Amino acid sequence: MKIVKAAVILTSPDRNFVTLRLETDEGLVGVGDGTLNGRELAVVAYLREHVAPLLIGRDASRIEDAWQFLYRSAYWRRGPVTMAAIAAVDTALWDIKGKAAGMPVYQLLGGASRNGLLTYGHASGKELPELFDSIRAHQAQGYKAIRVQTGVPGLKSIYGIASNVTFEANTGVRYDHEPAQRGDLPSEEDWDTRSYLRHVPTVFEAVRQEFGPELPLLHDAHHRLTPIQAAKLGRSLEPYDLFWLEDVTPAENQEALRLVRQHSTTPLAIGEIFNSVWDYQLIIREQLIDYVRGAVTHTGGITHLKKVLDYAGQYQIKSGMHGPTDISPVGLAAQMHLGLAIHNFGIQEYMQHGERTNQVFEQSFMFTDGLLHPGDQPGLGVDLNLAEAEKYPYRRAYLPFNRLADGTVHDW
Ligand SMILES: [Mg+2]
Repeated sequence: MKIVKAAVILTSPDRNFVTLRLETDEGLVGVGDGTLNGRELAVVAYLREHVAPLLIGRDASRIEDAWQFLYRSAYWRRGPVTMAAIAAVDTALWDIKGKAAGMPVYQLLGGASRNGLLTYGHASGKELPELFDSIRAHQAQGYKAIRVQTGVPGLKSIYGIASNVTFEANTGVRYDHEPAQRGDLPSEEDWDTRSYLRHVPTVFEAVRQEFGPELPLLHDAHHRLTPIQAAKLGRSLEPYDLFWLEDVTPAENQEALRLVRQHSTTPLAIGEIFNSVWDYQLIIREQLIDYVRGAVTHTGGITHLKKVLDYAGQYQIKSGMHGPTDISPVGLAAQMHLGLAIHNFGIQEYMQHGERTNQVFEQSFMFTDGLLHPGDQPGLGVDLNLAEAEKYPYRRAYLPFNRLADGTVHDW
């Protein structure tokens, strides 16, 4: 079974998505997600100019060989653009293999280890009343675990707060809290770590008082703290029994997490911007995290992320795959198949895509009573509707950036 066509489709129904579409000489089609939020065109060029010509005539059944060839033959390894491009190829090949076998991908990975995937949704509000409404709206949708983000006194604009706080507004151009904004320049947000560290524990105290001790709660610090600040936050949140605290430090320096661990028993999740097992090497071996945040789309596909998660499983570390709206329905379905099959699944982030996106990417996955299931269609179970995709040409969009009060650029 040979690959005869490799097309890169760039579409922007609610936001930009990069999709690789492979066709075989037997007429099978496979799709893979290579979306890199805010840098989409770099992956498009990498795939179109450098990878697609290598795929024509290759045996579509040799997934591991294709992965090793694309990783090693480039000489220049790793990095978000390379690993998203390899992920797109790898995911499309798994889709083809499933269709060739007449099985959903999770069956090829060993079959289901559970009935469905526990998810968490994103509740947010600048003030507590809006936050509480948002939590209740997510519970009404079936979510059994909730990420909590709020405004911080003195800051105008901050990561994670929905522009429209009602869940029903989740169909617009900037629905829920999609941070990437269309336009020629990125938007500027502001940041004050001391104010944040004082405020966040008061929010979780209020949420626990309102919603009780059972509801699993998560929070994302979005890479903004130093190790000692992260340790302080983890300790101050211990009374509120978080499911996880995410991205407390940038973690490019993996050893930074040793300091956090020395001071706090709040579970830690890290890795949404990592792209290979090497980024996790020390923090898994030394058990410095509890959840791996890697996404199939940004970690070299199903093949490589499965290796990361198998390694993590040896240390009782679980999956917590990144699932914002910039992971396309193709990438999301791929990680649903992986999450259903592995033993050490933890939780799946699930922000729902907008209506236009759902028309471009026809899906068979299901969200029932807070659990996701990829469905039982052969392959991934997501089809790219080319006619719909063509309606929405690429539009430049950037993620925001942060400055401190004195004008210093800070981690966003
Ligand atoms: Mg995050």
